[in-house]
Amino acid sequence: MGSEASVRVLMVSFPAQGHINPLLRLAKSLAAKGLYVTFATTESVGKHMRTTNNITDESVISIGDGFLKFDFFEDGVAEDGTKKIGLSEQCALLELVGRQYVSQVIKKQAEENQPISCIINNPFVPWVTDVAAQHAIPSAILWVQSCAVFTAYYSYFHKLVSFPSDADPYIDVQLPSLVLKYNEIPDFLHPFSAYPFLGTLILEQFKTLSKPFCLLVDSFEELEGEYLEYLSKFVTIRPVGPLFKTTKATCTRDIRGDLTKSDDCIEWLNSRKATSVVYISFGSIVYLPQEQVTEIAYGIMKSQVSFLWVLKPPPEEFGVPPHVLPSGFLEGTRERGKVVQWSPQEEVLSHPSVACFMTHCGWNSSMEAVSLGVPMLTFPAWGDQVTNAKFIVDVFGVGIRLGYGQAQNKMISRDEVSKCLLEATIGPKAQALKQNAFKWRKAAEEAVSVSGSSARNLDAFLQDIKDRRLVTDHRK
Ligand code: UDP
Repeated sequence: MGSEASVRVLMVSFPAQGHINPLLRLAKSLAAKGLYVTFATTESVGKHMRTTNNITDESVISIGDGFLKFDFFEDGVAEDGTKKIGLSEQCALLELVGRQYVSQVIKKQAEENQPISCIINNPFVPWVTDVAAQHAIPSAILWVQSCAVFTAYYSYFHKLVSFPSDADPYIDVQLPSLVLKYNEIPDFLHPFSAYPFLGTLILEQFKTLSKPFCLLVDSFEELEGEYLEYLSKFVTIRPVGPLFKTTKATCTRDIRGDLTKSDDCIEWLNSRKATSVVYISFGSIVYLPQEQVTEIAYGIMKSQVSFLWVLKPPPEEFGVPPHVLPSGFLEGTRERGKVVQWSPQEEVLSHPSVACFMTHCGWNSSMEAVSLGVPMLTFPAWGDQVTNAKFIVDVFGVGIRLGYGQAQNKMISRDEVSKCLLEATIGPKAQALKQNAFKWRKAAEEAVSVSGSSARNLDAFLQDIKDRRLVTDHRK
């Protein structure tokens, strides 16, 4: 084992697809550069990751000059436990067992003379930062949302600007370079939010922000320069994204963290004409009301566009029946459409047949589409998705607004769906979006190229870890 592979990094991920993907991408990039990375998350998702991606938690996977190992710890949620306890109780349980787990790993590694040099967590597990500090281990956070959204949370936490409140719920919020309307802020911060607990959980991370030595973000300087400049007054921030591209540039092994097995879509896409297919997916969690799915289906039929639609089954704990498509939909669209339960999204968005993406605007999906040059139809549900939609449409110039977030309680009709599908695929608006999208794709490619901004930031972060390791070793 080379000297760099003796630099050990522990990554702790919140157990959700949108958190696992970016952290695993970072894990692979760091391993490819010679580090020994342990990727830890809970057994409740680990059991799906193992079967879907053929990974085991015993084996050490060699990547480039380094290594990657998975470690799944019991989170105290019994097999059927998700049905009985809510998200806030699950998070409390995760913190309880997670704190012990991280402490034990730190101690065990030290006893085995393989000390951990750095611990990295993503949001929703803010206690990882505390445990690292208690053991005097340097730590960093990978923020998995946009820099603009980080700025909104930061401004809220430090009361830098006014936010909507119970007394004044409809006020605008001033961010450094633009104004967000009350329904464009990350909606966990809004008094009407259906999920205020998630806002509280995210803000927990801001209480301990002085502990990590660095904040990594899955974004790039060219895309969010203004926000990076603003935030760098308060934190050491290093944009290293788009991480799926950074990983591709550094790591040749394809190790995925999918929780669901992908259906085969690529062969079907190969059979379609260039720039002809609308890809439709709402990420891993958002589950649309049946009535909205029906409207989308009729909108697709009316517009006559080709489509690939990810219609996933409802999570068990939602206790709702699977979506039903209008009768005759599948037969009527067989020649030009395909419905699947999960797709290899990165490959789909990279495919030349794809014309545009109807998306819930999760940051991973947004980042993947922006940096692959795919225009979007924005259909956000909650949280940062509503803010991302604003940026996709009005700042990055690569989207058409379709939905407005679940808090608005507005059904999008089949006519609106059909109109927007056509606008995004044919005609002058589609051309303009494509041109902007192409510009961002080029910028993203440059950012991850050898001397690009994100590549340099990743190297600087690597150096940070090594420098801190020397200081820690020296203290012993
Ligand atoms: N994804 C995928 N196949 C699908 C749907 C989503 O591989 O059919 C991936 C997508 O590429 C992204 C992640 O799942 O990396 C979803 O993260 P995002 O932040 O977009 O949304 P979330 O699921 O967290 O709401």
